[in-house]
Amino acid sequence: MKKTNSQFLIIVLLLALCPIVSLGQKKSNEQADNLRTSPKLVVGIVVDQMRYDYLTRFWNHYGDGGFKRLVNDGFNCKNNHFNYAPTSTGPGHTSIYTGTTPATHGIIGNDWYDKEIGEDVYCAADDNYASVGTTSDAGKMSPHRMNVTTITDELRLHTQMRGKTIAISMKDRGAVLPGGHTANAAYWFYGADEGNMITSTFYMQNLPKWVKNFNASGNVGKYKKPWTTLKDINSYIESGLDNNNYEGLFSGETAPTFPHDLPKLFKENGEYDLLKITPYGNSIIADFAIEALKGENLGADAFTDFLAVSFSSTDYVGHFFGVNSKEIEDTYIRLDADLERLFKTLDKKVGKGEYTVFLTADHGAIDVPSYLKDQKIPAGYFEFDSLKPKFGEFLKYKFGTIDIIKNFSNYQFFLDYDIVKNLDMQLVDVQNIIAKELLGYEGIDRVYTGHQMWQNEYTEGIPYILQNGYNQKRSGDILLVLKPGVISYPKTGSTHGSPQIYDTHVPLLFYGKGIKKGKTIVRTEIDDIAPTIAALLGIAYPNGTTGSPIAEVFD
Ligand SMILES: [Zn+2]
Repeated sequence: MKKTNSQFLIIVLLLALCPIVSLGQKKSNEQADNLRTSPKLVVGIVVDQMRYDYLTRFWNHYGDGGFKRLVNDGFNCKNNHFNYAPTSTGPGHTSIYTGTTPATHGIIGNDWYDKEIGEDVYCAADDNYASVGTTSDAGKMSPHRMNVTTITDELRLHTQMRGKTIAISMKDRGAVLPGGHTANAAYWFYGADEGNMITSTFYMQNLPKWVKNFNASGNVGKYKKPWTTLKDINSYIESGLDNNNYEGLFSGETAPTFPHDLPKLFKENGEYDLLKITPYGNSIIADFAIEALKGENLGADAFTDFLAVSFSSTDYVGHFFGVNSKEIEDTYIRLDADLERLFKTLDKKVGKGEYTVFLTADHGAIDVPSYLKDQKIPAGYFEFDSLKPKFGEFLKYKFGTIDIIKNFSNYQFFLDYDIVKNLDMQLVDVQNIIAKELLGYEGIDRVYTGHQMWQNEYTEGIPYILQNGYNQKRSGDILLVLKPGVISYPKTGSTHGSPQIYDTHVPLLFYGKGIKKGKTIVRTEIDDIAPTIAALLGIAYPNGTTGSPIAEVFD
């Protein structure tokens, strides 16, 4: 009886303890969940040259599964800005993925003058590597000029290289920089007479089978078809007239109007490079991203993978036709359909609720100044060449030679320090004298010196934006800012690069696992994206991070 009693007691005790044990396990799992959200896949989407107002202007044309899905079921940061200049593609992609600005990451332009070697350099070029998948030199790329780690690098480090990073873009820099130093692969498009997705020996010696298959499939060639509007052009009431003076003209066309007969225009307009200046370039990237999901088995295991996709045709179309064109409207309506296609594949392959997406842009763009002028809005064009004679005379008179200016790029003058030394003048005095002269020139709104960038800690306005873009080792001696509405560009099409608000205001949408539904009008900045994703995943921030996680987006 006694024995039975004690047996009974033990059983009762075990029964009582079991829930405690399993509760304890549950608790520690919950704690781990509180520490991090682990989607199977993070998808970073950059839309090249996407202004924030493209979301609102074309809203009525979007379907439910593309931009609207991200806005309605995700989190919309409505007041998101680039906090540095120059606002261009190389610095843009780098800042999104590194959580910092050119002052720290060192990508101060697409191209810049390298003071140390006295040569112009391209942000992603690297002659130490060879092309893979093309007979051209277009594959000789690497991220070696980027001084810091990316969010993709940190995920690779955190997972002991088990989480994969695949980066894809039409432009080399749109893939190489987001992929970071440790990407499994970065792929980009080579046009001309090839029309293939390519890479660099920095990543691999040979293309994987799925990429070879994609290139051999004839998929790209099927976009060599007339560019017609996706919907009835008469329903495109959110853009200007199809035929106007503010748009570029394809060689062989007499008016910039639909339909654009791509097969007929092909030879005369750079062959496969022509597809870049059409929405079909984005469709090619969406097709390839979908193949990458399958070919690389992304989001299939417990280690979070990262797919970085950059759509560049929006930028080419904006540069060529301008932000108010029917062509840009059609490009966004078609991109929306491509996004829906990509998200549907993610639902199927990775699973609804199992992945996290962010979508942003690498810079905004200006309305075509010649169009603004016709609407009586102050705007115009700045031609530096026209000032050269007067500026040259001034330099000769003050310093004895025009050679004191070694280079002008990204709206910055670089001085020849040997000449300055021989003048027996302080560098700061030379900078100030030149800055004062330039401020007197038509179209130049503000001038700052490298000395000011060194001496001050700006916290707002244009100087703050310039300083975040100012890298002490790489940037120039005198910094120019043109008037709002004024650009240095041909009279057709839009551009970007300035610290002005039309170049800095871009969308920032988060969606999916770990993300709350909602919106904010509180200012967020581009270097907040990487730390937000790092905080979500519970991993280390990229090592140059200056931004902060956006607290409101978390579930
Ligand atoms: Zn551009």
